[in-house]
Amino acid sequence: MSEVKKIAVLPGDGIGPEITQEAVKVLQQVEKEFGFSFSIQYGMIGGGAIDRVGIPLPPETMELCEKSDAVLLGAVGGPDWDSYPPELRPEQALLGIRKGLGLYSNLRPVTLFAGLENSSTLRPEVLAGVDLVVVRELTGGIYFGDKERTTTPEGEVATDLLIYHEFEIERIVRLAFEIARGRKKRVTSVDKANVLESSRLWREVVNRVAKDYPDVQVEHMLVDNCAMQIIRRPATFDVIVTENMFGDILSDEAAILTGSIGMLPSASLGEGTIGLYEPVHGSAPDIAGQGVANPAAAILSAALMLRHSFGYEAAAAAVEQAVRTVFEKGVRTPDLASENQLAVSTEEFGDLVVEEL
Ligand code: ATP
Ligand code: MG
Repeated sequence: MSEVKKIAVLPGDGIGPEITQEAVKVLQQVEKEFGFSFSIQYGMIGGGAIDRVGIPLPPETMELCEKSDAVLLGAVGGPDWDSYPPELRPEQALLGIRKGLGLYSNLRPVTLFAGLENSSTLRPEVLAGVDLVVVRELTGGIYFGDKERTTTPEGEVATDLLIYHEFEIERIVRLAFEIARGRKKRVTSVDKANVLESSRLWREVVNRVAKDYPDVQVEHMLVDNCAMQIIRRPATFDVIVTENMFGDILSDEAAILTGSIGMLPSASLGEGTIGLYEPVHGSAPDIAGQGVANPAAAILSAALMLRHSFGYEAAAAAVEQAVRTVFEKGVRTPDLASENQLAVSTEEFGDLVVEEL
């Protein structure tokens, strides 16, 4: 019997509870199939927490996360809380957890499951074989540098400082190389080294770290070119590693390769051993409570948890394969179904994945 892994589950708002329920169901099946033992504890977060205790990230939720091995999050936010002041918005909870757990990397695997080519807006022949992961730096760069506004005789002046420390680059780049080792062994480092000093430092660090990974092929690409190549020849990428803002933009761009926002999982990892796993999509208030949300992103996020926080690679791959098989059999959730296609509910999809497992 393996050791007990503690999982904090934070369902959140909108479709969050519906989709995390399916992910938990899958995790419980993994327990049975693989002989693992999970202790699952629930915490409140986001708008629901605001309604109950007045703040989006109550201290008891943060404590629950800190004493867990991994956190599975649904989604937060919705129109009910849009008029609240910025520090009292549900989204604030995410920043709080990232900071609290020291999560400096965001991983977004982008996989096109067979049969879903036609659900994307891109041509099927361009999409064939897409299987890449964007590794985005999460705690540095222009989003966090000093910001300033001054008034001069010529008018307003605004400054955002783009700052990167060598150690911040090194740890994310190393992670990208480690991930590439377990995949197709190719790293594309994306920067703007022709104009940015921080990008030149980024490139130096990548070249240095690359020496420790002679088995991994590395290339440098300017971000403008990468933005084009991602939709021109997406299947040629394996691991894309880049700084915060470039990663923000490229990972949303890459998202359209999969057919639906409901397909995309993410993992945020950091200094400690605790990882945060959540779908890329939001709380989708427009479809909440109807049982029509696609739970694949949440289920695939649970698979990333098995892989990255627990090292249960076989179980992670089995969950991913189960999702793949369900789609291969022609099953579609409403977001992916064409007009004359019968779609399954959120719960039915979860049941089918459990059955495949
Ligand atoms: P946030 O600001 O939290 O990212 P958002 O407003 O950007 O939220 P989402 O909540 O992700 O966006 O929703 C965008 C659209 O995608 C909505 O129409 C929503 O219904 C749809 N959508 C999001 N997630 C899913 C899902 N799992 N299954 C089906 N449709 C989804
Ligand atoms: Mg959004």
